[in-house]
Amino acid sequence: MLKYEDFFLLDEKLSSEYKVLRESVRKFVDNEVIPIISEYWENGKFPRRLISKIAELGLVGSYMPVEYGGGGFDKLAYGIITRELERGDSGIRSFVSVQTSLVMYPILTFGSENQRKKYLPKLASCEVIGCFGLTEPDAGSDPSSMKTRAYRKGNKWILRGTKMWITNANISDIAIIWAKDDDNIIRGFIVERDMGYKTKEMKGKISLRASDTGEVILDDVEVPEENRLPFAEGLKAPLMCLNQARFGIAWGAVGIAQFCLETALKYSKERIMFSNPIASYQLTQQKLADILTYTQNANLIAYRIAELEKEGKLSHYHISYAKRYNVRAAKVVSEMARSILGANGIMLDYHIMRHMTNLEAVETYEGTYEIHTLILGEFLTGMESFRK
Ligand SMILES: Cc1cc2nc3c(=O)[nH]c(=O)nc-3n(C[C@H](O)[C@H](O)[C@H](O)COP(=O)(O)OP(=O)(O)OC[C@H]3O[C@@H](n4cnc5c(N)ncnc54)[C@H](O)[C@@H]3O)c2cc1C
Repeated sequence: MLKYEDFFLLDEKLSSEYKVLRESVRKFVDNEVIPIISEYWENGKFPRRLISKIAELGLVGSYMPVEYGGGGFDKLAYGIITRELERGDSGIRSFVSVQTSLVMYPILTFGSENQRKKYLPKLASCEVIGCFGLTEPDAGSDPSSMKTRAYRKGNKWILRGTKMWITNANISDIAIIWAKDDDNIIRGFIVERDMGYKTKEMKGKISLRASDTGEVILDDVEVPEENRLPFAEGLKAPLMCLNQARFGIAWGAVGIAQFCLETALKYSKERIMFSNPIASYQLTQQKLADILTYTQNANLIAYRIAELEKEGKLSHYHISYAKRYNVRAAKVVSEMARSILGANGIMLDYHIMRHMTNLEAVETYEGTYEIHTLILGEFLTGMESFRK
């Protein structure tokens, strides 16, 4: 029988290994994330107590090679993990995205063998927590305008600048810092906390409240040459990292949409108004049909980018398309689901509005909706329009 959860029978494409993975992450989210997340979200705290279980389940570094402590899976597995985690909360998915795609990935891709051996296994087990410092107070969508500098001093580098909006900053042991050298070339560094970077919690967020966000302050921090990522040169390096994370965001957004669909459908069948379930009214059915459509379209896109990645045909345009569409789809879905739940829809207990507000940050980071629009505009026209 056709089920709304698997409308396009994508389950048939999954081997048992992926189904087991999905079920284990879903169980973790249902049993250990959803029951506690509203309280952490309300208190504006990241639930650190979940880290050990996240590591134990192998959710960090899933697509990193086994020899470095990773899971040895492909990107489809990473997608499934991020989708199921974001069904719980974008903050939990963000933790795993940053640790995997913005910290482990640059070390694997641009690091030396020594750096890989030293950091990757500890990052996979979450013995070491990392963050990724690209954005600055005056350099958001245009990271090439960054002001953080790396001055060469013999066999050392002096890092000076401030990074802002950094996920996992306050709980980090290491930070991947992007800075311009004397020739204005962007370089990447693995900066350890005891080398001297300071962090400051950013309070007052109304989105992604269960995620740690902070400033990273580099006040002439001395970093040895051996901690520079030797194969990272120019803006392309951090952008490659962002593309890894965007892939996970495109999948994660589907998790939110699926959660909203399940919740709104169940609620609409149980909620009686004017003597009938609200699900029986045509206006509700239109919302449910739209929710189903956005959710399934986003899911199809997520699967397709995983297939293209496996075939070596995935371009950054596909990733922009997927991140842009899927996050917007999840936003529309969460708004419609919220309305189906009426007043209950604004309550933390029902989770929808928490997702809805989280999506504001998710649509902003890793390239805003507008920036991905411009990337697709450039693909279509051949004309780059970021700058005047
Ligand atoms: C919760 C959270 C966590 C984050 N985590 C990290 C992290 O871990 N590491 C990190 O480095 N960064 C992180 N970021 C930063 C994030 O990547 C930036 O916020 C994002 O790149 C946008 O930059 P901005 O906020 O400075 O907005 P701006 O770049 O100032 O943009 C403001 C508005 O102008 C629009 N705009 C900008 N340029 C153009 C243009 N050319 N044409 C049309 N419109 C334009 C934007 O789309 C946006 O709507 C995080 C952000 C948030 C909110």
